[in-house]
Amino acid sequence: MSRRGDNDAVVVGGGVVGAACALVLADAGLQVVLVEGREPPRWQADRPDLRVYAFAPDNAALLATLGVWGSVLAARAQPYRRMRVWDAAGGGELDFDADALGREQLGWIVENDLLVDRLWAALPAAGVRVHCPARVEAVEQDAHGVRVRLDDGTRIDAATAIAADGAESTLRSLVGLPVSRHDYGQRGVVAFVETELPHQAIAWQRFLTTGPLAFLPFAGGRSSIVWTLPDAEANRVLALDDATFARTLTTAFAARLGEVRGVSARAAFPLRRQLVGEYVRGRVLALGDAAHVVHPLAGQGVNLGLRDVAALRELVRGAVSRRADWAAPHRLQRWGRQRLSENTLAAYGFDTINKVFSNDEMHLTLLRGAVLGKVGCVPPLVDLLWKRAAGV
Ligand SMILES: Cc1cc2nc3c(=O)[nH]c(=O)nc-3n(C[C@H](O)[C@H](O)[C@H](O)COP(=O)(O)OP(=O)(O)OC[C@H]3O[C@@H](n4cnc5c(N)ncnc54)[C@H](O)[C@@H]3O)c2cc1C
Repeated sequence: MSRRGDNDAVVVGGGVVGAACALVLADAGLQVVLVEGREPPRWQADRPDLRVYAFAPDNAALLATLGVWGSVLAARAQPYRRMRVWDAAGGGELDFDADALGREQLGWIVENDLLVDRLWAALPAAGVRVHCPARVEAVEQDAHGVRVRLDDGTRIDAATAIAADGAESTLRSLVGLPVSRHDYGQRGVVAFVETELPHQAIAWQRFLTTGPLAFLPFAGGRSSIVWTLPDAEANRVLALDDATFARTLTTAFAARLGEVRGVSARAAFPLRRQLVGEYVRGRVLALGDAAHVVHPLAGQGVNLGLRDVAALRELVRGAVSRRADWAAPHRLQRWGRQRLSENTLAAYGFDTINKVFSNDEMHLTLLRGAVLGKVGCVPPLVDLLWKRAAGV
């Protein structure tokens, strides 16, 4: 096998995607080094992380094979069994049901910090060597491998380097992977809220002309909200006092769960579509947010990144079982093309949904009514929502 030094892969970035990637590669028998720029968050049960994901079953299965999912479930993961989507302008309602898929749940609502905490707990036993805190500063590569230099002066040689260092990826920039970026001019306002009526283990999403508003079921009867708003409007609601915020939110959600009563601290994050044009440059790969940032309306940010990792696992396993070089350029390129097409399709699918629904132009209002009034009327759109929700 072609490789430089003792390492098969150096993974840069130890968020959910990077840590899972390091574990997957180690599980396939590779020598892996993980580099992370800051101490990972420690999950605290009494301080829930505002960044939550609608975690899909295929990714739960991936984490189960790594021996991590059981500890996530034991700590805190709220199953959701149904998903209800409707439009403030009227029309019908989409209702996705786990029963229709013969499943117990469509997925789980899980905190980012909890996933990171449990993935990191599994690194030592998997034999992953960790450099933390350390940031990648330079990279060079030739036909046989890569050399990564860290800001503490350490040099790491490996057969491949994997950029999992998030949306502002340094490694991606260092190797010159091209990026296209579109700011939506929207922000996602996140908070935990208590509601008058129980959430019923349903993920609710109401489309308003300002953007979608999601109420995701969370432990302790609370809901986690993701409220997409134009930048100025997001700043305005962030500055409201709790009581006014709760009233404004109740109205925006058409009091579907009765009055919003308790509100946690709030935060907001800017929304953009950011896609790399290539996933592979020589022996450097990009995955997770380093490769694709998508609109959060279907809660798919981390799910797409973990699917990059699952596809990489298939590549490595297939090559290793045939005693072939898993890092051969044609194999990496094939992986990259497959991920590029799937993630680009997903990103533009969410884009279209955001555009069609976050708009009050007459023809788009009619289209929305058609989509929500007769499920199946616009099959690709409905299909996309359905599949992304259920991870199939
Ligand atoms: C506030 C917030 C809320 C969000 N809410 C949602 C949501 O509700 N639903 C959703 O789907 N998505 C959401 N997202 C997006 C989601 O968090 C990302 O899709 C997901 O975290 C991607 O995981 P990742 O591991 O690829 O990247 P990240 O989680 O960004 O991890 C990257 C890691 O790389 C490290 N790093 C960065 N640079 C370097 C370097 N030079 N050297 C070494 N290490 C480095 C960072 O410290 C970090 O640990 C949210 C994002 C934010 C910021």
